Amino acid sequence: MIKSEPAAPAARNGNGNAAKPGSKRLQYATSRESTPANIAESYGHFIGGKFVPSSGGETFATTNPATGELLSRVATGTPEDVDRAVAAARKAYDKYWKPLSPARRAAYVYRIARAISERARELAVLETLDNGKPIKESRDFDVPMASAHFFYYAGWADKLEYAARGGRLPHSRGVVGAIVPWNFPLLMAAWKIAPALAAGNTIVLKPAETTPLSALRLAEICAEADLPPGVLNIVTGDGVAGAALAAHTGIDKIAFTGSTEVGKAIQRSRAGSRIPITLELGGKAANIVFADAPLDSAIEGIVSGIYFNQGHVCCAGSRLLVQESIHDEVVARLTERLETMRIGDPLDKNTDIGAINSQAQLDRIKELVASGIAEGATLHSQTAALPENGCFFPASFFTGVGPGMRIAREEIFGPVLSILTFRTADEAIEKANNTRYGLSAGVWTDKGSKSMYVAGKLKAGVVWCSTFNKFDPSSPFGGYRESGFGREGGLEGLRPYLELDP
Ligand code: NAD
Repeated sequence: MIKSEPAAPAARNGNGNAAKPGSKRLQYATSRESTPANIAESYGHFIGGKFVPSSGGETFATTNPATGELLSRVATGTPEDVDRAVAAARKAYDKYWKPLSPARRAAYVYRIARAISERARELAVLETLDNGKPIKESRDFDVPMASAHFFYYAGWADKLEYAARGGRLPHSRGVVGAIVPWNFPLLMAAWKIAPALAAGNTIVLKPAETTPLSALRLAEICAEADLPPGVLNIVTGDGVAGAALAAHTGIDKIAFTGSTEVGKAIQRSRAGSRIPITLELGGKAANIVFADAPLDSAIEGIVSGIYFNQGHVCCAGSRLLVQESIHDEVVARLTERLETMRIGDPLDKNTDIGAINSQAQLDRIKELVASGIAEGATLHSQTAALPENGCFFPASFFTGVGPGMRIAREEIFGPVLSILTFRTADEAIEKANNTRYGLSAGVWTDKGSKSMYVAGKLKAGVVWCSTFNKFDPSSPFGGYRESGFGREGGLEGLRPYLELDP
């Protein structure tokens, strides 16, 4: 059976759109995206150009976190499945992909980019159903960005000699093992598949267990684009399949995005082997707002910094550092702004805050929020009614946060901001750098020289000045410290997929 229409959510007691009497919130009519997502009842792994069942015959459910509805059943990956996928990728590398001219390779990558653009609305609906993110984000960010990465890297495929330094000739590495998380499923896959293919490698991808559907749709798109069988392989499953892929001796490069804990485990498991690894891990970014910042813009930057994608963002501005003199004003304006945010049905085009991706993630958010309250911080949450079903958490922030509290140190990975204060620029820098992570940061001030001074001293891979969460395929992204190493995007994101002649 094929589902042709996204199912309407069960009865709700409001989706955040209903304004209370006297509230400043605008009343919005529901506007649900109705493009069909065409989800099959079940999916196998995509190996050697075909969908095949798991060697163990087992499947697992993938559900819509906004409703609890079953979307499909997907093959449970085993080490044998990973073996098969790596063998298919090796065969395709030797037989088709390596001998292919760079210009022909570019044509395939362009074709995938175009197919993603052409099927953008369907992919956006699919991503929203499987992940819980608002349709306006999957439609306006995830899918266009994924397609943009394929377009960008297609342009590199026949210009690889310009990617190398010092006159050394670059060539492909072989088979790439790629593992991605659930927060931007299609985009994280694109960040790895596009440069890997453009550089002449074949790939085995392991999507996250709660969000496999957009990667499987991408496999269908690649098959329709006549990508030679085995150039892209997808093994679905959990950490068992991920660990088998990361440890497989038949791969020539590992590209991992996910938690710091799993990143460390992968690094440990490959210690002593010479396999190149890139790790894109967690973060606890400082978003620094000085008293001279244009506050209207800064408030919007704070909001998009933490509430975009329900805060399921590795580079989320989850620690707000506010100059002491404007703390009360920022808190008042943020409180007011939260009341305008619409939480609820992710398929409604008006929704700002969608569903938390899984019950496990919702439980983790609640546990960390409880720890913040127990440690003495004050929680402020939007008052909109939450849907009765599904996994939802209101947009929230903490005041009275001390730098030692768990909510100031650990990644909550939900729509919860921790607000701290500072008096001088140097104190802001010291507090911002007081973290084990180093992925991103933000600086808001009217003074260009102060922006540059502070940005230069922040220990973060990306620093946004007077903006936040801005991406471009030509711009490298990545962290250091426990946020990982290596870069994705741009020329720096291409180099890890290339080997240089000695
Ligand atoms: P996770 O580490 O639990 O899982 C990520 C992927 O690894 C999944 O596909 C999972 O099945 C797989 N996996 C689990 N155990 C494994 C093992 N032992 N060996 C190999 N693979 C294994 O992370 P998550 O909860 O899915 O994602 C959230 C994390 O990802 C957050 O910490 C977030 O900050 C991080 N993230 C980082 C970036 C970045 O670019 N730095 C981007 C997005 C997300």
